[in-house]
Order: sequence, then C-alpha cells, then structure tokens
Amino acid sequence: MSAITHNRQIPSITLKTELIGKVTGRKIDADALIDSGAEGIIINGQFAQKHQLTLLPIKNPFPVRNVDGSENTMGWVREYTIQNLRIYSRDGEAYHEETAEFYVMDIGDHDIILGTDWLEEHNPDIDWSDSRVDMTRCPETCFTAKPPILHLKTKSSKSTVIDPRTHHKDYQGDAVEFLFDPSTGVRR
Ligand SMILES: [Zn+2]
Repeated sequence: MSAITHNRQIPSITLKTELIGKVTGRKIDADALIDSGAEGIIINGQFAQKHQLTLLPIKNPFPVRNVDGSENTMGWVREYTIQNLRIYSRDGEAYHEETAEFYVMDIGDHDIILGTDWLEEHNPDIDWSDSRVDMTRCPETCFTAKPPILHLKTKSSKSTVIDPRTHHKDYQGDAVEFLFDPSTGVRR
C-alpha cells in the first residue's frame, strides 16, 4: 500500500465535489484535484478535522513516498476515512456518487486528491486542454443520477484568455506606426 505524491507541474483539473453524510445527509463542498502523479484517493487532514469526519486507524501505517522512493516530509499515513463522494455534471442535474476510502494526509491547499487508483477504477474520458471530464466508462458499482454524466463541474481557474494572434497584431501595429512616424526620425 502506498500513496505516492509529488509536486511536478502537470496539467491539472480540479473538480467541484460534495461529501455526503451517510446518516445525516449533510453536504460538504470539497475541491478535488485529479492527479495522475498520486496513487491513492487522499483527503486533507486539516479539512477532515475541520468538518469532523470520522477517521479510522490504518492497521499498518505506511510512509508517504515521493516518486523516486524517498520518504516525503508529510511522514506516515495512519488514518483513513470512508466517505460518499458526489460529483456533479456542469448542468447540476446529473451526478456521479461513490463510496470511497480516503487516506488522510497533509496535502496543502487541496481538499481531496483523486490519484491513479481513482482514475483506473472509473476510467473517465478526460480532455486536459479543455478541462473536460466525462464519466463514460464507470464500473456498475458507481451510482449515477440522470446519466450520462458528462462535463463534470470544475473549479473555475481560467483567467481572461488573451488571444496571442490578436495581441501580437496590436503590438506590431504600434511598432509599425512608430517606425513610420516621420517625427521620430527613425526612417529618413
Ligand atoms: Zn464511477
């Protein structure tokens, strides 16, 4: 058992998810990073504490390993929690729900990390450049409401996109104007 993590800069997608209380039905908003560089399904220890999630001891605690096999500064994983994770499609109508075991770790700013275990189990169709995730190849054990579950809700991280062509053209225009301005004396 391991939960390899690393800090390599790779294209990332953060899903907006909810943890649904089994008994109470209480909903907790959680941002879940899809990270193919991590192995397990991981939840932030501080987040778990803040929301008073029920933590269970791991029988055989294991150290957090970096991809090169060295021990991560996060130390050992000693607890896990079982939670219902709900992920909505962008229209808010359809959703995917599963019961998952989360390793409790210090994962900085992230609430949840969905690693390769999760990717392999659900095998979603991901368009990294478009930040689009479709749940089209799930096992039968997944619960789905109003399927198909397409275009999962993501945390908006897209800033205003500057079209490089337009931007470049404007710049050139200014430069040309400058070069041909007789008052500058650049072109005699
Ligand atoms: Zn699934």
